[in-house]
Amino acid sequence: MKKHLCETHLHTFEASACASITGAGQAERYKALGYDTIFVTDHFFNGNTAIDLSLPWEEKVNAYCKGYENAKARGDEIGITVLFGIEYTYGGADFLTYGVDKEWLLAHSELEYADFFRYADLVHKAGGFIVHAHPFRRAGYLREIRLIPDYTDAVEIINTHNADDISNERAKWYASEFGFPVTGGTDNHYIPAGEFCAVCTENKISSVNDYIKAVKNGDLTLEILRFESEMPAGGSL
Ligand SMILES: [Zn+2]
Ligand SMILES: [Zn+2]
Repeated sequence: MKKHLCETHLHTFEASACASITGAGQAERYKALGYDTIFVTDHFFNGNTAIDLSLPWEEKVNAYCKGYENAKARGDEIGITVLFGIEYTYGGADFLTYGVDKEWLLAHSELEYADFFRYADLVHKAGGFIVHAHPFRRAGYLREIRLIPDYTDAVEIINTHNADDISNERAKWYASEFGFPVTGGTDNHYIPAGEFCAVCTENKISSVNDYIKAVKNGDLTLEILRFESEMPAGGSL
């Protein structure tokens, strides 16, 4: 069976303060690594954002979507599918969101003041899907573990950024105790080589709905891939 590779969790310099590779650079990197599909999931305005929060809503959203748009433009040129996502932060917990888009963000300026629960309601009303990313990450900036099962659709049980085996094992436990479908991601802020997590499917993930369906149906495998060498020029800033 031919395997198709998808990255579900990555950041761009344009929108995430902690990322050091552009959207276009990410598209090039993943194309060269043999991936078929990537989701751009930049930190939202409540996370480690690179966006000037004093801007009006529409300008903020436009700036936020730049990383995705640049990745998509480059992806269209070189032949890799680029899809949109969001990483929404609530008190140190991070929720990857799929199935909403820029138009949805523009139409919901109330998100400026909404809390996570209102956000999650709006996402679900729009048919979106919420994945709790690395729920048991251990890091200096995290002081509590925050689980919100009633607003969670799936759990990221492999995260290869800052992750350790214990955190991933605990995420597996959470998913199995609560019966959540599982997924995984690299949470790539800019790694030239090393461990990547790929969501592998028989059919290529060509749309957000393909991905949501694959996760819900458990129609995927999660693989940790090791890339040993630096990427050729073009990937970095
Ligand atoms: Zn980050
Ligand atoms: Zn992330």
